[in-house]
Amino acid sequence: MGAKKGKPGGPLSRGAGAGDGDRPVGRRVLIVGGLAAAVGAAGLAREELSHLWWRLPGVEKPRVAGAVDFRGAQWVEASAANWRRADRPDDYTIDRVVVHVTQGSFASAVKVFQDPKHGAAAHYVVRRDGHVTQMIRELDVAFHAGNRSYNERSVGIEHEGFVDRPSSFTDAMYEASARLTAGICGRYGIPVDREHIVGHVEVPGTDHTDPGRYWDWDRYIRLVRRARTAAA
Ligand SMILES: [Zn+2]
Repeated sequence: MGAKKGKPGGPLSRGAGAGDGDRPVGRRVLIVGGLAAAVGAAGLAREELSHLWWRLPGVEKPRVAGAVDFRGAQWVEASAANWRRADRPDDYTIDRVVVHVTQGSFASAVKVFQDPKHGAAAHYVVRRDGHVTQMIRELDVAFHAGNRSYNERSVGIEHEGFVDRPSSFTDAMYEASARLTAGICGRYGIPVDREHIVGHVEVPGTDHTDPGRYWDWDRYIRLVRRARTAAA
């Protein structure tokens, strides 16, 4: 989420998921039904085939209601309209963490991510005091980056605050978010650097500016590295 260019400090902006072109309804049925034909198709890329196999019933990883990927996170489910079911990292490689700023309160971010009309949501929302809420499983594709391929390859983390307000970014927030990102990097083998941990502003084609110039990247990467080392 975050401010759009030309509208700094605006309200919670929607539409990060617009243009994703996702088709949640009937997809499994279509793919499973087409599998027999697909296997015989000589022209079908190996990559595409591997994407079909995991869609078969029983192949997907089991899910437990209310389970979280980050220990200590509170589970609050986002509206199903704001994400797409997947089976990452088996179907899509996860190699990016995208840092966002909400441009509003923690509560308002959690609320809009539960709203099917919002069209966007991130996996996590980190509060000023370091509390972490998880709203979408890392298995699944959240509509947070406004770029389909980045949505598929990344985990999105929202931070309570405003891009033009340096006081938004508290010690507790940096520490908690760094532990969260360190865990994500550890789970998927993502290098802890600025190529792989990016701001929404760096997503190709975005018109968003978050996390903005007051987000302390040097400090954040240092904290993530420290948390990785501590966990190793
Ligand atoms: Zn954003």
